[in-house]
Amino acid sequence: MEIRFADCIHCGGQVQERTATREVRWQGELFLVEQVPMGVCNQCGERFLKPDVAKAIDRLLQTRKATRTALIPVLSYIGDAA
Ligand SMILES: [Zn+2]
Repeated sequence: MEIRFADCIHCGGQVQERTATREVRWQGELFLVEQVPMGVCNQCGERFLKPDVAKAIDRLLQTRKATRTALIPVLSYIGDAA
């Protein structure tokens, strides 16, 4: 099933459907949701989520059934980059 996306609202670029990992902040925690179908702009990389996909992610988060847990590196700009 092909989902058509309108051109990018930011730059007018072509938006193509891809599956990608989405980062979601939910109840103060960061979650990664893998294999999410979304539109990605060829020019600026902006991502677009269909409303039904966003709702499905919400439902998924509420189950809190993680397939695996990842460690996320945290960097501090202040002190290290300056
Ligand atoms: Zn764009």
